[in-house]
Amino acid sequence: MFRAIVISCIITATFFQIASAEIVNIGIYHKHKITSFVFHPEEGSYSVFTEQGKLIDIDKSDILELKYVNNQVTIKSLDKDYGTFKKVRFIGTSWNNSFKIKTSKSKRIKVYEDNLFVNLHSYYNYFQLINNIEIDNYVAGVVESEVGRSPPPEYFKLQAIICRTYALRNIERHKAEGFSLCDKVHCQAYNRKPKSVLIKEAATGTTDIVIVDSDINLITATFYSNCGGETAESEEVWRQKLYYLRTVKDTFCLHENNAVWEKKVPLTKWTNYLINHGFPKGSLKHECAIEYFQNCREQFFENQNVQIPFTKIRTDFHLKSAQFDVIPSGNFVILKGKGFGHGVGLCQEGAMKMAKTGYSYIDILHFYYEDVHMINLASLAFFKADY
Ligand SMILES: [Zn+2]
Ligand SMILES: [Zn+2]
Repeated sequence: MFRAIVISCIITATFFQIASAEIVNIGIYHKHKITSFVFHPEEGSYSVFTEQGKLIDIDKSDILELKYVNNQVTIKSLDKDYGTFKKVRFIGTSWNNSFKIKTSKSKRIKVYEDNLFVNLHSYYNYFQLINNIEIDNYVAGVVESEVGRSPPPEYFKLQAIICRTYALRNIERHKAEGFSLCDKVHCQAYNRKPKSVLIKEAATGTTDIVIVDSDINLITATFYSNCGGETAESEEVWRQKLYYLRTVKDTFCLHENNAVWEKKVPLTKWTNYLINHGFPKGSLKHECAIEYFQNCREQFFENQNVQIPFTKIRTDFHLKSAQFDVIPSGNFVILKGKGFGHGVGLCQEGAMKMAKTGYSYIDILHFYYEDVHMINLASLAFFKADY
């Protein structure tokens, strides 16, 4: 019944497209310590505002240089010095606006959509750059940054929904610093305006759709590269138990790039590690210490009363996943593993395979996230209202 309501809401919202146009503030070049950059409109036109009001209108024929000097920002064009200011706003004035930016820290020119806010980070003596951007434009940029341009179009749609859900759930992550999310993997990788038209279409085609749990809260939409055949429960990796992040048997990813891996570790390094973590020396002769099989995902590598979480061994030995067997091989042990990543939530390579096989993005999301609902943002307030 609930699902029927949700589906009808998505259909309703699709026909009566609500111009919610959510805007987000993304801290770009986060921690790059930018002290000067060049701004050049790529598409559309911009008005430049300072704390004194509107300064100038610029278009594709213009180029401005901004420098951090004595806790102020200087603005110059090729033939004019506009003076010094405390803050600057580049506001797009056409239907579609994007700009090129080249900073003092990188030779690479990057392109971003919508607006740019320039603040002074007076304590550190560098700029704080904030891309004030329509959320679907941001989501498309994140999808291309996170997964590249090779997956099938249906996959882009589900990744767009995941990235949108993540962004809105974490919208206050950098509130103390004056923006919503940073552009690093700490939040979501966001490198620039996407080049792929298909990714753009995936973001706009799923506009406003987010994933919620049975209490209509945005879910923690975790994902990783490859589960190795079986996804992990959330509490195996993090403390929090979330009902929708359960173990799923996944055969779709078994023959993909990151399905299996191997790492050779010197026997003495392995046994010293076990001793340092409480394994009695005598127990190392016990074959389980150097020969161990995980038939299904297990939480602990254990021998007698000593337990080491597989997730800890993964971190300490820089392994691709926490799902591996230990096989003795002369003066070495071979760690023979499955999958790549923490294993909780959506398996990207499995999901890509499903998309190629013809499954819809809705089927794929329901496969990896148990009993969740795809809902339109505009409906969220309706569902959350008390009756
Ligand atoms: Zn962040
Ligand atoms: Zn998988």
